[in-house]
Amino acid sequence: MIEFKQIHKSYRVAGHDVPALNGIDFQIGAGEIFGIIGHSGAGKSTLVRLINLLERPSAGQVIINGTDITALDAAGLRAQRQRIGMIFQHFNLLSSKTVAQNVAFPLALAGEHGKAQIKARVAALLARVGLTEHADKYPAQLSGGQKQRVGIARALATEPQILLCDEATSALDPQTTQAVLQLLADLNRELKLTIVLITHEMDVVRRIADRVAVLDAGQVAEIGPVAEVFLHP
Ligand code: ADP
Ligand code: ADP
Repeated sequence: MIEFKQIHKSYRVAGHDVPALNGIDFQIGAGEIFGIIGHSGAGKSTLVRLINLLERPSAGQVIINGTDITALDAAGLRAQRQRIGMIFQHFNLLSSKTVAQNVAFPLALAGEHGKAQIKARVAALLARVGLTEHADKYPAQLSGGQKQRVGIARALATEPQILLCDEATSALDPQTTQAVLQLLADLNRELKLTIVLITHEMDVVRRIADRVAVLDAGQVAEIGPVAEVFLHP
């Protein structure tokens, strides 16, 4: 469902091309939990940002459900981005909005839903992530694990098929990490959600990913089922 075809990406820095990805060529299947692991600077963020076109490749194609998203026009891009949710290490919640308002925000932006519809959807999402009684609190009143649950509810608001997780548990303690990973694994099963998870923590990948790609200096050093890749480090 997500296919990287001969992806190259460099950043232009002070008149020079700094390579970030050098010939990325693999596929992520529908419904998979796919881990991307590697040292800092390996190209993980760049790769994930290509999926929702926060970055464009310098060469190559990103094909999602048969569509080359690098060729989309502005309207196509907007629609495509609604099919992809993202969560972040530092949650990226809006601090002046309540939990419920944060979750409602992408629905309001999409502009396709009535007030009653948004309210019902927000209530269902908050119930699913276990935050019903915190709906009217502000992010500063929540624990890290609760904030990431808000992030997950917000990311799922527009019913995306793909959830991108950028170091989503790196700011959490081990126990909270375990609970958030369990929630992600449950959502993967319930919603047939494809999850792409980038992390520098092998343990995270080992616990929930089906397959993993190890990135090194902008290339795939290894790819395969988690058990195989970690057996042959
Ligand atoms: P990772 O997520 O694995 O740490 P990144 O994708 O962030 O790797 O970075 C890959 C390479 O691209 C690094 O050399 C980094 O310095 C460079 N890079 C990333 N983002 C930018 C940017 N916006 N401008 C210039 N260089 C960047
Ligand atoms: P409005 O824009 O109608 O004044 P707010 O700015 O207070 O509403 O909240 C934005 C959206 O967040 C609302 O449309 C509503 O759907 C949702 N919302 C706010 N509080 C709750 C709640 N406790 N439960 C469910 N949804 C809520």
